[in-house]
Amino acid sequence: MFFYLCVSLYVCLIGITLRINTKKEYVPRCNVDVLSKFTKRTDFLVESEKAAHARKHVIQGENIPNTGNHRESCLNVLLIMLESTSRINSVRYLRKTRKYLLETLDATELLGYNKVALNTRPNMAALLTGDFLENLSCFKNKEGVDQCPFIWKEFSKLGYTTHYGQDAYSTFYSKDMSGFKYQPTDYYDQPFHDANEQGKPQFLHLCFNGKSSSEYVNERMFNLVSNLKDNPFFSLSMHIRMTHNSLTRAVTIDKLISKTLQGLHKNSILNNTFLALLGDHGIRSGKVRPTFIGQLEERLPLMFIYVPPWFKTKYCSYFKNLRTNARRLTTHFDTHSTLLHLLDLDNNQHAMKTYRQKGISLFNEIPSNRSCQDANISSKWCAFLNQERIIQLVENSASLQYTNCRLHEICIGFNNHISCNFIFAINKKRRIYQRDSQTVKPV
Ligand SMILES: [Zn+2]
Repeated sequence: MFFYLCVSLYVCLIGITLRINTKKEYVPRCNVDVLSKFTKRTDFLVESEKAAHARKHVIQGENIPNTGNHRESCLNVLLIMLESTSRINSVRYLRKTRKYLLETLDATELLGYNKVALNTRPNMAALLTGDFLENLSCFKNKEGVDQCPFIWKEFSKLGYTTHYGQDAYSTFYSKDMSGFKYQPTDYYDQPFHDANEQGKPQFLHLCFNGKSSSEYVNERMFNLVSNLKDNPFFSLSMHIRMTHNSLTRAVTIDKLISKTLQGLHKNSILNNTFLALLGDHGIRSGKVRPTFIGQLEERLPLMFIYVPPWFKTKYCSYFKNLRTNARRLTTHFDTHSTLLHLLDLDNNQHAMKTYRQKGISLFNEIPSNRSCQDANISSKWCAFLNQERIIQLVENSASLQYTNCRLHEICIGFNNHISCNFIFAINKKRRIYQRDSQTVKPV
């Protein structure tokens, strides 16, 4: 009896030891690894009159009646933005998502996708309006940004049901920007997330009622597009919290995003949908930012574009160009032009003449020699600097002179190899300086 007691105690101790050891493994702060069953609920969404009419049919178990505006070549638009997510970071932490996009969906990854401005707001403004934030007076309107030419308005005119969701009180809301006074899209998730925060916006809150904020964002998007079925939709989902100010936390949403893409694919939602999974910019904080790789990451956000198989045949030249553009210099302005092109796919000439000129539709070939200036990217944010511009460490003017000389010698020694474009360092305040001929100025 004593023997069995000892054996049981020993086995128990081994079990406890193993359990303690496994606790050393990374554990997400909340359960984000299983996407819960998608329900048919849409009642928590703020909705317009048109959307309410559609929901009535959903509740009655019917498909939403077709608006009659959905032409054969009319693609749905599904934009999923992951805050501060660079392509490079996706290679580290979004492996399942990347694998599914590349191997199953045959999506196109844009390797030279360069941000055009500092942070979320101006980059998303570029994507959604086709212009720089500072050029549009509507963004300065104290009453709200409702008058701005957001791209979903164009889709709404064609009968698309529109949706905009983000899991934080940000982007177009801040102390100096009042956000939307009126509901901007047919379905609008902001009030849901505001209610979750109970009047106390806390960016660090990642979980609400046992679910991650990203899980809620995905659920709402998935429920909505599932219910819309054959009706054209434009949906923009922005995952802000999970990846904001964190290089590693992307790993906690990898399975979630991957499963969501699988759900969309298996439910045939992607059969008639243009999908873009993108970052607004790369990580802008932490120790990685001032490093060589950090500088590239900040400037080169993630961008995957998926089009359905039939599109590749019907618009084979567009698809060929998209593939070619995967290795060209591209921006959010180009994505905006592409979205406009989707409104009138069969009329490329019309598209080229009337689209806003800051971008080129990704369905048209982008010149191989396109410069940052051509693409409306300032040298400050250009990931592909000219050879004569070298970013370097400066502490004071004396060390600058010394550093200039040494870098010059090194680059000559290597025949001004392209790597010289990216020689840089930081000062004590982690500020990066750029040398341009005789002058030195902060980047
Ligand atoms: Zn951002």
